[in-house]
Amino acid sequence: QAKSAGRNQYSFYQASTSQHNEEELKLEQALRQALRQQQLEVYYQPKFTLDTGKLCGLEALLRWHDAELGIVSPALFIPLAEKLGLIHQLGEQVMRQVCNQLHFWQELAVPVAINISALQLTEPDFLPKLVSILEQSAISPSLLEIELTESCLIPEQADYTLSVLTKLKALGLRLSIDDFGTGYSSLSYLRRLPLDALKIDRSFIKDLPTSKSDGQITLAIIAMAKALGLEVIAEGIELEAQRQFLLEAGCDTGQGFLVSPALPATEITPWLADSASCTSLVQFAPNLGATNPLRRRS
Ligand code: C2E
Ligand code: MG
Ligand code: MG
Ligand code: MG
Repeated sequence: QAKSAGRNQYSFYQASTSQHNEEELKLEQALRQALRQQQLEVYYQPKFTLDTGKLCGLEALLRWHDAELGIVSPALFIPLAEKLGLIHQLGEQVMRQVCNQLHFWQELAVPVAINISALQLTEPDFLPKLVSILEQSAISPSLLEIELTESCLIPEQADYTLSVLTKLKALGLRLSIDDFGTGYSSLSYLRRLPLDALKIDRSFIKDLPTSKSDGQITLAIIAMAKALGLEVIAEGIELEAQRQFLLEAGCDTGQGFLVSPALPATEITPWLADSASCTSLVQFAPNLGATNPLRRRS
């Protein structure tokens, strides 16, 4: 992991346990300080329609750049924040940043999705906080989407989770299941939830279109989502051939490095200003070559 993550990336790998503990303690302290000083920054990854390539939403992804540790991956610091009981404070900072940004982007009316972990959702203060932040930023709740992983849907808390989701839905928020296909949620429970979309996990997309079995799984997820009346969004589209496969499979939308990684808000604003026309991807996505149908269409 450390290797693929790049040179400047912090890694847990240590030879001895005492050294490991020392490193972990250092990371803990740095995270506490970063939260206190509000140093974590929300980046935004575009979601796009697979046929025309029009930008249709954003996903908020948290970034931490520590002066000493370098870039720390959310895959590392989110579980740590959960372990240390800091996830509520972290989640609140994300909600505030996103709602302020949505207020700034108000005229452009782009929906933004935030990731919420199970611990956050089952915190009694979660809904009141969210409502007050929405009111303070005076944005339409319909512009906010909540992404939940299947691990949010822990059976012991199924009824409580359902009641929170029903209230979120009543407020006008959109709800989607993240990393779909990697968890254990039962389809009968999923069917009871007031969902808008399923996100196909990147692990099924990454070997497309070569992998026959991943192709079959992807087709099955799309068919199931459609049968339940849900939108489908594919995560981690890196190749034009993957976009093509998913488009032909009936998937509506996607996100991935083919179009863009998550970027700071200031770099996203020009996309939004242009998203009324279908030219957005052509102008802003360097990975789309001249032979790409998205380019030709515009
Ligand atoms: P996720 O919600 O499933 O987000 C998708 C992850 O895939 C992101 O990683 C994104 O940068 C990455 N990704 C997107 N397109 C591609 C692609 O084409 N190729 C590859 N290789 N990767 C791609 P990231 O930002 O490192 O986030 C990891 C996870 O951390 C997220 O998975 C989410 O579960 C969690 N996370 C991130 N921000 C937050 C947050 O604000 N709150 C909470 N609770 N969790 C967060
Ligand atoms: Mg997500
Ligand atoms: Mg995901
Ligand atoms: Mg994922």
